[in-house]
Amino acid sequence: MRSGKTVSVIGSGIAGLSAAVFLAEKNFKVTIFESSPKPGGRAYSFFDRERNQFFDNGQHILAGWYKNTFEYLKIIGSYDKLNFQKQLEINFINADKKVYRLKFPDLKPPLNILTGLLKFGALNFRDKKEVLKIRKLLNGKDLNGKFDNTGELLLNIGQTDNLIKYFWEPFIYAVFNTVPENVSVEIFLNVIKKGFSANQNSVLVIPEVNLNDLLINDALFYLQNKNAEINFNRIVKRIEFSEDLKTAEYVSFEDGSKISQDYIISAVPFFAFRKLFDEKTYESKGFKAEHLKSSCIVSVHLFFHNKISESMLSDNSFGMTGLIGTDVQWLFKRSDFHLSLVISNADASGITEMSNEEIYNKCLKDLKSTLTEFDETMISDYKVIKEKRATFIPDKESSKYRPGQITESRNFFIAGDWTDTKLPSTIEGAILSGRICADKIIESEY
Ligand SMILES: Cc1cc2nc3c(=O)[nH]c(=O)nc-3n(C[C@H](O)[C@H](O)[C@H](O)COP(=O)(O)OP(=O)(O)OC[C@H]3O[C@@H](n4cnc5c(N)ncnc54)[C@H](O)[C@@H]3O)c2cc1C
Repeated sequence: MRSGKTVSVIGSGIAGLSAAVFLAEKNFKVTIFESSPKPGGRAYSFFDRERNQFFDNGQHILAGWYKNTFEYLKIIGSYDKLNFQKQLEINFINADKKVYRLKFPDLKPPLNILTGLLKFGALNFRDKKEVLKIRKLLNGKDLNGKFDNTGELLLNIGQTDNLIKYFWEPFIYAVFNTVPENVSVEIFLNVIKKGFSANQNSVLVIPEVNLNDLLINDALFYLQNKNAEINFNRIVKRIEFSEDLKTAEYVSFEDGSKISQDYIISAVPFFAFRKLFDEKTYESKGFKAEHLKSSCIVSVHLFFHNKISESMLSDNSFGMTGLIGTDVQWLFKRSDFHLSLVISNADASGITEMSNEEIYNKCLKDLKSTLTEFDETMISDYKVIKEKRATFIPDKESSKYRPGQITESRNFFIAGDWTDTKLPSTIEGAILSGRICADKIIESEY
């Protein structure tokens, strides 16, 4: 059935593509305006001429609880490109080169987490005594509102230094890209509930292909087949509203042209949102996006002369290793000759301000202190990518600045990882936000 209604989507990041795909599936006529020459926003692959290959701007991992992402991937036909763990399993290596494997057994929660942690070699007897207290987090209901931040919460429920260092910090860096003290208890508990409420939800999911192949190319193909129009290098200057602000009337551009459609969805990042409105409209609507703070991720691609040995990475079967006590937090084996390193929360350690060479030298130092057999002569080349505004900081204050997807203007919606989904800055948050906008539009037409 053809809805016949038109929708403008501003931004072709994952949130914009999600809104567009869910709407196109119901035969809405979608037009995307993207300011840059490429789609994908903060999750993209770039072509490296020297190696004649695509690389990602940073390693992205998904998790078993990314239900909206899986729906999106099924619609565009990319779901089979995901590699799911059977159970959560990660190797950690510390700065004394000691390797510890965390593995959740195939049991119902919370038994899987508790048993996994009780068998985790990084923890001592005293730590293990406190593991059972994690049940309080999984119940969660009496904890929200009692603590200022997640760091405080973890200490108050008796989590030891080792539990925080070997379990909570790696988890929090990976999901929230900041320290526990910067994570709101509400958002933390929501992720815990989603991630640990079923055994399959806690597994890690690594794409077998690059980000373009997983999230973007198939979406563009799907949209084109559904007669969507996708315009690159098209910067939206303003969204113009009726006098009473109840209706979004036009999307306008630098050259003075305007387009009128039945619905308008903003899917720009928080740092580009304010510019879409004149001051009066922005203030009347109570938007406060500019108060959100951002956090940097630095990714370093290392290319090796020879095949990377399994033993150097302590036989990590899933291609992912956590490092403890170093600035580099995660290593991903992307191919036999390519490692991708992740430094989250890079502003805090001053790494964002370092030169690429200084960052590379820091990585070498971290790898030498953690990996047996590693030697810098093994490396043929490297590439450093800094994403200064990779994610927003999901602290307690952030909830005041995240608007809902549905607004008081009947035909204007807001998507983006930073809108109020009670999730951190993630692919799942971005896709969920786009889906909420699409569902509401579909609901008002059918
Ligand atoms: C290095 C890195 C690693 C990450 N790792 C993970 C991970 O492991 N797992 C995970 O789930 N998430 C991860 N993330 C987060 C994830 O990538 C983001 O949450 C997600 O991509 C945000 O999508 P978005 O569509 O909300 O915003 P964006 O990707 O920022 O898209 C917004 C789009 O709007 C466009 N735009 C802006 N202004 C205008 C305008 N005026 N007119 C037209 N277009 C405009 C922009 O060009 C952009 O394309 C990572 C992010 C980075 C940077």
